[in-house]
This record gives sequence, C-alpha cells and structure tokens, in this order.
Amino acid sequence: MGTVWEMAVWSRERPRALWALDGAFQEVARLERLMSRFLPESQVSQLARAAGQATVPIDPDLYTLLAQAQQVAAVSDGAFDVTMGPLVALWARADLTGVLPGPAEIRFAKSLVDYRASVLDADGPTAVLQHAGMSLDLGAIGKGFAVDRAVERLQAAGYTQGWVNAGGNVRFLGSWDRAVPVRDPKYPDRAFVRLIVEEGALATSANYERGWKISGQRYGHLLDPRTGWPADSGCLSVTVCAPTAALADALSTACFVLGPERSWLLCAVFPKVEALWYMKDNNADQMQLVITPGINGRVHDLPALQEEPIHADVSLA
Ligand code: ADP
Ligand code: MG
Repeated sequence: MGTVWEMAVWSRERPRALWALDGAFQEVARLERLMSRFLPESQVSQLARAAGQATVPIDPDLYTLLAQAQQVAAVSDGAFDVTMGPLVALWARADLTGVLPGPAEIRFAKSLVDYRASVLDADGPTAVLQHAGMSLDLGAIGKGFAVDRAVERLQAAGYTQGWVNAGGNVRFLGSWDRAVPVRDPKYPDRAFVRLIVEEGALATSANYERGWKISGQRYGHLLDPRTGWPADSGCLSVTVCAPTAALADALSTACFVLGPERSWLLCAVFPKVEALWYMKDNNADQMQLVITPGINGRVHDLPALQEEPIHADVSLA
C-alpha cells in the first residue's frame, strides 16, 4: 500500500504473538490484492474494466469498504469520493509529462467522478461503475480499512493491548490514553503538539509527504472534486480521531479538502469524531491551530509534557 506498516501487541508469549501478527500482515496483503489499482487482477481493476458495461461480483470486505466510502461521500457532499480515479490519473500524467492539465481535460475527468454512479448491491455482493471511463481510487480509505481488519484479527487472537500503524493511520487495541505527537506540517520531522488519544483510531492528511511536481511547481495529492484541482482550503494538515481507522482515514481527506468551517457538520454527524487542523496564516511564518470542541483539553504544547515512552513511528505521517 505504498507505506510502512507497524503492528505491536502486548504478550507474554512471543512465538504466539508473532504468529498472530503474521496472520494480521497476511490479511493486509489479501486486502491489497483486492483493492490495488496497480494490480490488473484486483477487483478494483476489474471494476474499472467493466465500467459502463457490467456488474462485478465483489468480495464482502470490498463491499463493506465501498459502503463506508459511500456514506462519507454522501455526508461530505462528495468532497471525499473514491471514484476519483480519472482525476488522479490525469494529475499523475501531468506529473510525468510536466504539462499542467488543460481545462477541457479537467472538465472531462471531473465528469467521471461521481460516487452516486458507483452502485452497490448487498445481494451477491456486487458493484458497478455506471459510466465507461470511471475508476476507483481507494488511496484515501484503503489503508485505514486494512488497519481495522488487522486489529480485528489481533483481537480475535485474544490480544487486548497494542496498535497497528500504516503510515500514520493508527488504531489502538484497547484503551491507550497516551500522548501522540502530531507532526508540524512545516517541519514534518518534528512534532508541534501532542494529542491525548484514549482509544480508537487517528489519521492525518497533509500535503508535505506526497504530491506532484509539474514544471517546477509542487501540487498537493489531495484533490477537490468540485474544481478538479488540488484542494486549496488553506489547510496544511488535519488529524482526525474516530472509532475506526477507515472512518478516520476517509474523514481526514474530507476535512482537508473542506477546511474546518465546512467540516464542522461532517465531524458532528459521526459519534466520537474529533479533528485538529493546522491552517495557513496570513503571516507565512505562522499557522493557526483549529480544533473541534471535543478535544479541548486533550491538545498539549510540546514543552508542557514529559517525553512519553512511545514508539517513534507512532508520530503521524
Ligand atoms: P495519504 O494516502 O497520503 O495518507 P489520504 O488518506 O488523504 O492521504 O489519501 C490520499 C489519496 O486519496 C490520494 O493519493 C488519491 O489517490 C486519493 N484522493 C485524492 N483526493 C481525494 C478525494 N477528494 N477523495 C477521495 N480520494 C482522494
Ligand atoms: Mg485519508
């Protein structure tokens, strides 16, 4: 999935724990084979080939993921949309050729991005992309979903304490209640604040790690389906806490595209969802921190806390 995976459980029996962790990694590999748009035999690739023509039987896990994606797409009014494939492909091509996409190309790709034209049927289950040229890109929810499945595997094996982290898509087993460092989007190798997370999951969407470089200019990899261009909500990064990693992953992308004001309702729709945005400031050297009311008191400046004995990689990507 193009990122570093890390899993840990608390256990007195090392061989048994390693065996359980191995099972969880195998589950992630299975999901990647279903969901990758780079593997021609994945179900996501099959759906793209059948777009506009045929309904495709899909794995129940892919059905569950797509149903969750539809829910976030509907509530975010399409700011998060996994039918983003054609637009992502257009920008990836621009990255290769060094030429920005033209307005007609953007308009055409945008016309193929519409979550309402991705139709699911629980009987089967099946899915269909209704128009030729449509394709799915699960980049903004797939890692989170796979983190949830890995956690479920570890829980089923009897583990109650630990974590799974896929490049900043983190979910804790059991209660955690520790301070998690949130990276400074301007200087990503250092943390800016720490967030007390009691349980559940968190994910960060930001532009500092991935993006496209087109004729010397950097463009963010999070696209606004309304414009077809990289999102320019003024957001530098956003971290979302949610009960599941799939929801945190999807909502972090939506919250990045929409910015805090327009995300407020979105966060309120889902129980136990909180968010923290770093926003651009008029003064280029500064940023503004915006948080949802529920995490008031859980955000700490770095100097206010002792260094926590937490694995370095749990700092967010
Ligand atoms: P990352 O994968 O860098 O952690 P995200 O979880 O936010 O970040 O997912 C970003 C990926 O999702 C992009 O690389 C692209 O493939 C896809 N994407 C970009 N914009 C959107 C969007 N508005 N809705 C859904 N998927 C998107
Ligand atoms: Mg995401």
